[in-house]
Amino acid sequence: MRDGWIAIAGLGPGSDAMVTPQVRDAMRQATDVIGYIPYVARVAPREGLTLHPSDNRVEIDRAVHALTLAAAGRRVVVVSSGDPGVFAMAAAVFEALESGPPAWRDLRIDVLPGITAMLAASARAGAPLGHDFCAINLSDNLKPWGLIERRVRLAVEADFAIAFYNPRSKARAEGFAAILRLLRGICGDERPMLFARAVSTSDEHLQVVPLSQATPEMADMRTMVIVGSSATRIIERAAGPILYTPRSAA
Ligand code: SAH
Repeated sequence: MRDGWIAIAGLGPGSDAMVTPQVRDAMRQATDVIGYIPYVARVAPREGLTLHPSDNRVEIDRAVHALTLAAAGRRVVVVSSGDPGVFAMAAAVFEALESGPPAWRDLRIDVLPGITAMLAASARAGAPLGHDFCAINLSDNLKPWGLIERRVRLAVEADFAIAFYNPRSKARAEGFAAILRLLRGICGDERPMLFARAVSTSDEHLQVVPLSQATPEMADMRTMVIVGSSATRIIERAAGPILYTPRSAA
C-alpha cells in the first residue's frame, strides 16, 4: 500500500470561522476533495488539488471513490457539512470499507470532527440542549416512516429535548406536518420550539415559537428544528428571547 490516506472532515455549519484548524490542515495536504456539490464548493481551489463534487444520495459511490483513490496513493479529504459522523459521510465510508476489498483496511482513515448543526443552532438560541436530549433524522430515505414516528413518540415520553435534522424537503412535504400533529397530541400546545435556518451563514434566520404556532413552512432542508423538553423555558429580553433547558430534573 502506498502513502494514501483518507480524512473524513466536517466543515461546520457554514461560517469559515467554524472550520477547525485540524480540517484546514488536512485540506492543505490533500490531493483530492470528494463530497456533495455545495460542500465541495466551500473548498478553495488550488494547484495540485482535484475537486470531485457529486450529487446528493450517492454516498456509497462517493465512499468507494475515496477509498479507491486513497488505495492508489492519493491524499483524500471527504467533506461533510457540520460533523462528518452525524448523518453524514463517515458512516458511509465505513459501510463501504466493511464490504470492500480487505486491502482497504490497511489505509489510514481519520475522522475530523466539525461543529454539527444542532450545536450551532442551540448556541445561537441559548442552551436548549442543556439537559438530556436526542437527535432524530426526519428523512425516511434510509429508514421506514413508522420507525421515525415511534422514536419521536418515545423521545417525548422520555422527556428529551429533541433535535430534528432534515426536517422537511420538497419530496417529503407531508412528513413534517405529521410530526407537528404528533407532537401536539403528546406535548401540549405551549412546548417551545426553535426553527434555526442556515445558521452561521448570511441567510441565518431564527424563530422561537410555542408548538401551537409552529407551521410546516417554518422548516426546510436548511433548517434545524429543536423541540424543548417539559423543562425548556424562555427568558424574554429586549434583544430577543433566550431558549434554554436547566441542567437538573426533579
Ligand atoms: N452532518 C451534518 C448534518 C447533515 S444532515 C451536521 O453535522 O450538521 C443535513 C441537515 O442538517 C439539514 O437538513 C439541516 O437540518 C441541518 N443543517 C445543516 N447545516 C445547517 C445550518 N447551517 N443551519 C441549520 N441547519 C443545518
